Amino acid sequence: MTWTLTEANPKNYPRKFLVLLDAVRQYNDNIDNDIPLLWKAFQFAQNAHMGQFRRSGEPYFEHVYNTALILTDLSMDTITLCAALLHDVVEDTAISEEIIAEEFSPTIAFLVKGVTKIGGIKFNSEQEQQAENFRKMLLGVAEDIRVLIIKFADRLHNMRTLGSLPLVKQRRIAIETRDVYAPLAHRLGMYRLKMEMEDLALKYLEPRIFNFLEKKISAKREELEAYINNFTGLIDKKLRENGIEAVIFGRLKHFYSIYNKMKKQNKPFEEIYDVLAIRVIVNTVAECYGSLGYIHQLFKPIPERFRDFIANAKSNGYQSVHSTVIGPGGKLIEIQIRTHEMHKKAEVGIAAHWKYKESKDNDDSLDKHIQWLRDLVDMLKSDSANESDFMETLKIDLFKDEIFVFTPKGDLISLPKGSTALDFAFAVHTEIGLRCIGAKVNAKIVPLNTELSSGDQIEIITSANHSPSYNWLKYVCGNGTMKWDIRPWIFFIRLWERGT
Ligand code: MN
Repeated sequence: MTWTLTEANPKNYPRKFLVLLDAVRQYNDNIDNDIPLLWKAFQFAQNAHMGQFRRSGEPYFEHVYNTALILTDLSMDTITLCAALLHDVVEDTAISEEIIAEEFSPTIAFLVKGVTKIGGIKFNSEQEQQAENFRKMLLGVAEDIRVLIIKFADRLHNMRTLGSLPLVKQRRIAIETRDVYAPLAHRLGMYRLKMEMEDLALKYLEPRIFNFLEKKISAKREELEAYINNFTGLIDKKLRENGIEAVIFGRLKHFYSIYNKMKKQNKPFEEIYDVLAIRVIVNTVAECYGSLGYIHQLFKPIPERFRDFIANAKSNGYQSVHSTVIGPGGKLIEIQIRTHEMHKKAEVGIAAHWKYKESKDNDDSLDKHIQWLRDLVDMLKSDSANESDFMETLKIDLFKDEIFVFTPKGDLISLPKGSTALDFAFAVHTEIGLRCIGAKVNAKIVPLNTELSSGDQIEIITSANHSPSYNWLKYVCGNGTMKWDIRPWIFFIRLWERGT
């Protein structure tokens, strides 16, 4: 190293570091023990990226610093914050993963490596199924839930600063964010993050619509605010009179969901009535139902829109009572009532309420894995968790029977674990399998029986007058579970054998 790191000493801390510390203090009482490590990562990243600039002209360090700041919003631990500060060091500077492991810890190096690995995978398809496969693959490749969480923060900051990139890149990144990252964040219950990602994606993918909505809403903002203040005021008063102390937030639904409503119902903005929503946070479950009753006394509910996710918690743990009422002037207002504990879970990424809004997805196996991931996030946040215990459980063994690989065009193909290059050829097309004479994995020529791993890109070399070899039967792991039909192929081999 050509630079020296200064001791952890409050006199040395620049303002930026103090801001970061302040943010961590909001949720971590033990920050004092962690300061030396965090301070080291801060300086290390600053030095490593010295002289590098983003397209916007800002020093590169701004990006990694802001990524870490976003993670404080999600109450992430110090290890994760350090990894966030260092997340682009291996990719963009001469510093290796080994150096990070030595200077910091193997865990931090492992997280940085994971983020680097995910960063190398690019999504470039507008097909829904591809997006779903891609989301699965991210989970598979991430190996550790924290890798994914850092990646979300990294992506959010890149989205916030997308304006300075060329248009083509803006589009690609925005599509990837909308189709892959936002739905994944939604499933992990990282609701705030998801909404911001979606709004930013809309801004870059449909700038005219975004500007239109922004104008409409800002023109009505005062009116909407006055309306919601009046509405929440009435509810607050009623609850107080009945001895219920509640925290009530009014909120405007985010642009992307308003836009989706306009599209789905084919209605102009003026006819979308339920752009307003409120949350009522109370102390106990009994108060949730009590508040519901009092609110229904004030405003008429729409019976079809009533949902009790407290009595019937979702399989992912989400709990709240939802009701839509007719507010003053006939406006529809969605109300979510929950306890503080339920609220905290729903906000910071434990409870995802994805099922009822993302009805398109009903992949149960993915749901199960997500539940498991969510439990991990839970553990990650609990103070009582024992470090080595949860390091063990943090290893993601999702989809352990499945791998995800790419065609040269970047299409994603999922195969059973243990699949070879030859399996891949048949998975793409029987004809390609039959005519296959060789394969390149990640641009290197390899034998056809080479076992593939997730993230590999495979190119199959074919020849029009080639026929399959009997030996191939030994290489394919197809045993009836494969997606393609292997029978014509065996038939072909027999024919071919008879012919020679
Ligand atoms: Mn980055």
